[in-house]
Amino acid sequence: MAFKAYISVDMEGVSGLVHRDHVGRDGKDYEFSRRLMTLEANASIEGAFDGGADEVVVNDSHGTQRNLLPEFLDPRAQVITGSPKPQSMMAGLDDSFGAVLCVGYHARAGSQGILDHTISSQAVYDIKINGDSQGEMGLNAGIAAYYGVPIVLLTGDSTATAQAVELVPEIEVATVKESLTRYAAKNLSPSASQELIRRQSKLAVERREEIAPVQYEMPVTLTLQFMFSAMADVAELVPGVQRLDPLTVSFTSSDYLEAFHCIRALILMAGAVA
Ligand SMILES: [Zn+2]
Repeated sequence: MAFKAYISVDMEGVSGLVHRDHVGRDGKDYEFSRRLMTLEANASIEGAFDGGADEVVVNDSHGTQRNLLPEFLDPRAQVITGSPKPQSMMAGLDDSFGAVLCVGYHARAGSQGILDHTISSQAVYDIKINGDSQGEMGLNAGIAAYYGVPIVLLTGDSTATAQAVELVPEIEVATVKESLTRYAAKNLSPSASQELIRRQSKLAVERREEIAPVQYEMPVTLTLQFMFSAMADVAELVPGVQRLDPLTVSFTSSDYLEAFHCIRALILMAGAVA
């Protein structure tokens, strides 16, 4: 059977990038930063093909989700671009895929890593899944598990990769920078980082049968703590959403995708009162 690999590419975890000037669309250093992001994506694409993938789909998963430079992307891969889209950072993933690779990921909100946040720095203080704080990999792992697909690799700073191992002990990682503060890191050079990502991507897809999907207990409860109470005031208007305290709401479902989509929508709505 043909083996399809899925690569979700974020930006904050790319080597050399540590600030909003790098990862924000209007940032002064954004244009060269998106080139580095594209080169790390290419490294992972190459590793996935070297490891036996017959097909690779890349999903641009940062901000507007319009960052990867198509003319520089490995022509063997297809790329999903733009937002909003169902499943967001996991858009297009289904049970035809054999492995998910997370490239350029960052630490969850409230942890000491480069540009730590969970989905939105403006709106989200914390997200819990069944009572445990999770970052974007944790949220996306639930979607991957919905389709029976394991997350086999995460690349990013030292805090992001440590959090990945905490959730999935057998995962492969590529630590491309060591976080010193929220806005400072000791980085591998771009070429060293790309070589590490290529190698680890190959190893990760080769090991995919040994890595289990993250199965959250069902029904699943997603708890969302906002930055400001006005955001919870709006979220509470949605049927099925429970208000737990001034800043916090939750949603419970026996369908992980439904719960994820609800939380994703509440974060988008929060933007209206930010
Ligand atoms: Zn991002």
